[in-house]
Amino acid sequence: MNDAPTLPNDLDAYWMPFTANRAFKTGPRMLARASGMFYYTAEGRPIIDGTAGLWCVNAGHGRREIAEAIQAQAVQLDYAPSFQMGHPLAFRAAGRIASITPPGLDRIFFTNSGSESDDTALKIALAYHRARGQATRIRLVGRERGYHGVGFGGMSVGGIGGNRRQFGAAILPHVDHLPHTHAPGRNAFTRGQPDWGAHYADALEGLVALHGADTIAAVMVEPVAGSTGVLVPPRGYLERLRELCTKHGILLIFDEVITGFGRVGRNFGAERFDVIPDIITMAKGLTNAAVPMGAVAVSDEIYRTVVEGAPEGIELFHGYTYSGHPLACAAAIATIDLHAAEDLPGRAAAMEGPFEAGAHSLRGMPGVIDIRNFGLIAGIELEPYPGRPTVRAARVMQRCFEDGVLVRTTGDTIALSPPLIIEQPHIDRIFDVLGHAIRAAA
Ligand code: PMP
Repeated sequence: MNDAPTLPNDLDAYWMPFTANRAFKTGPRMLARASGMFYYTAEGRPIIDGTAGLWCVNAGHGRREIAEAIQAQAVQLDYAPSFQMGHPLAFRAAGRIASITPPGLDRIFFTNSGSESDDTALKIALAYHRARGQATRIRLVGRERGYHGVGFGGMSVGGIGGNRRQFGAAILPHVDHLPHTHAPGRNAFTRGQPDWGAHYADALEGLVALHGADTIAAVMVEPVAGSTGVLVPPRGYLERLRELCTKHGILLIFDEVITGFGRVGRNFGAERFDVIPDIITMAKGLTNAAVPMGAVAVSDEIYRTVVEGAPEGIELFHGYTYSGHPLACAAAIATIDLHAAEDLPGRAAAMEGPFEAGAHSLRGMPGVIDIRNFGLIAGIELEPYPGRPTVRAARVMQRCFEDGVLVRTTGDTIALSPPLIIEQPHIDRIFDVLGHAIRAAA
């Protein structure tokens, strides 16, 4: 292994995703190595990982058990066709995932990312209604500020204007958005779930009245919205959505791409909130991000309706060359084993209080207008500089990086989502550095 990675001397070729390429390339922030709670720059400078990569390295970096499982599988069976052929590990991986999903969500479809999981879930919802003779149910409902990846389905159902505007006419028709649940005047600085705002779910009744329940296929929401600035659902909100979806025969899809795999103190947000959707989408923490993989867990009823109700032959015309890739399956099984052996959801639950206290210790600092948290997720919202949105947060992020802490920004919110192996000294250091950076950006 090369212990001394060097910076590439040409940054032109790589068009970076979701990045200000021009600005980045004038002063690139490079991560060369990682272990446990830390990244290291090429020069060997440690950076505490306050974001678990991108909400994905939940078990911490460089987990040997996962690396060895991937390596062994690469030698044993590097690839097998995902269509019309099987390999044992895909069935075993699906079984392991089903063993930790909420009861009843035991049928697993494999993808390679959160975006693919979300588009897959939307397509399954449409196929399900058609299979049960309700082909008029084609309307998809998301939320303002929702993030469901970048496929055409997820982008359309998602509610982040900046992710949609560039692509104009490519937005899907027959998509509606419920209001988001962010209520700064009411719920600022709430610890955990806000008490106020369950009624936001009632907007679904408005869509039903407008279009007719028999036109609506599914509602997709993140139990805790992350990429949009950390929005925690008000108490009773998800329960109410569940109630309304059931009442109107609409499928409820939880996008658990970030809330899955221990992040909120249980295997899935569904369990933590005690609200069981019809479909859960996942990715990220599934393989600890060591290999790309996503999955969609659906109810028995959906699987049986689509698969057993179909005529002889292929039942669902959907899938990916790398669905259930052997290396990803090996990583997923090793990751789920690690989560169980180390009770990572339990660790996250135990650290939630100290993490919350750390986040809210920033209250009163200059420009901090809200702090939101749930599980090992926190958002610190900053007042934008007048006329210069996102600049203050970008400065804070840069300063944190220079001082050895990785945070991320979404708009003017600093988002934190550390590995679940975090300990008190890491928490102290993260919020100490962040506090200094916030003061420096005042
Ligand atoms: N859904 C949610 C809630 C996410 O946070 C993300 C990624 N941040 C995605 C979907 C998309 O996942 P991916 O980037 O793996 O396509």
